[in-house]
Amino acid sequence: MDDYNRMTYTSPPTDISTDDLVLPFQIESSDIHGRLVTLGHGVDGVLGSHDYPEPVAKLLGELVVISAAAAGAFKFRGMLSLHTSSDGPVPMMIAEYRAPGGDDPRVAPAALRGYARFDAEKVAALAQSDLDQTPVAALLGSGHLAITIDPGAGGERYQGVTALEGSTLVECMHGYFRQSEQFDAALRVDVGRTGGDGTPWRASGVMVQRLPKKGAPFLDRENEDWFHALALIGSMDRAALLDGSEPQKTVLKKIFPNEPVRAYRPVRVDSQCRCSRDKVDTMLHSFSAEDRADMLEDGKVTVTCEFCASTYVFEADQLEIPPRTSAQ
Ligand SMILES: [Zn+2]
Repeated sequence: MDDYNRMTYTSPPTDISTDDLVLPFQIESSDIHGRLVTLGHGVDGVLGSHDYPEPVAKLLGELVVISAAAAGAFKFRGMLSLHTSSDGPVPMMIAEYRAPGGDDPRVAPAALRGYARFDAEKVAALAQSDLDQTPVAALLGSGHLAITIDPGAGGERYQGVTALEGSTLVECMHGYFRQSEQFDAALRVDVGRTGGDGTPWRASGVMVQRLPKKGAPFLDRENEDWFHALALIGSMDRAALLDGSEPQKTVLKKIFPNEPVRAYRPVRVDSQCRCSRDKVDTMLHSFSAEDRADMLEDGKVTVTCEFCASTYVFEADQLEIPPRTSAQ
C-alpha cells in the first residue's frame, strides 16, 4: 500500500454512495493492491460541456478514468495530468486529476477535468471497425502520451513519456508502466452512455499494481496470484462495471469473488474546473495594453475556457483599454 493511501484512508468505508468514488483496495493474501473507480457526473461533467463526436468523447472519457485510477499509484498531493500529442484527427487530449485539497476527502473531492481538440470531418470519415479495434491509431495517430505529476507545494515536477504504440489508451499506459519499472501495473477501463444518444456518460476503471518481481521464478506463487488477478479484471462483465446501481464494495466482490479483499476509505472525485474570472483577468493583464486592445471584438474581450467551456466577457474599460477615438 503506497503512502498516499496509507496516510489518508485507513478506516473502512462508511456512508458511501456508488458514484464518483475511487476505492483503494488490497488483496490481503498478496501484495497486490489497487483502486476501483466509478464515475457518473465525474466523467459526464467533463464530456458533456463539449459537443464531441461520440468516439472522441469515449476516448477522452477513458483518459479521464485512467487519470483517476492511476493517481493513487503515485505519492503526491498535487496534480496528475495525462496529455496526448499526435498527428491524427484528435491531435491533442488532456485529462487532469487534482488530489483533494482539504484534510477530509469526503468534504473536498478530487477534481477531474479534461478536453480534446479534434477535426470533426476527419473523425466522421473514420471506419467504425478501426474505431472499435484500434481507436488510438484511428483517432490519435502517431505521437506520444506524457504523464506529468506536479506534487505542488514546491515539490519537484515529474514527467514520463511513452509512445502511442498500443491499440487502446490502456495498452499505451501498460507500455508506460513496463518502461517505468517502479511497479507492475494493469488497468481495465470502460466508458459508455447510460442509455441511448444524449444520455449521460458513465465510466469505470480498475487498476491493480504490485512491486516488481525481478528475478522471481515465473510460476512462483506470487506471480500466480498476479496473473490470476489480471485474468479476473479482464474477464469482468462490462455491463456490471458500468451499471452503477451497486455499491463499489459489491462490485469489488464480483471482480474478486474468492479473494480476501480489504477496501479502504474511498476518495470522492468530481468534474471541476479551476478556471475563474480572476484567473482570466490576471492572464489578460499579463499582456500589454496594446495587445489587449488587439483582442477587442465589438468592444469586448471574450475568453472561453477550453476545459469547461465557461465564457468570460470583459468590457474594454475593465481591462484598462482606452476607448479608441478619432483623435488617435
Ligand atoms: Zn474552466
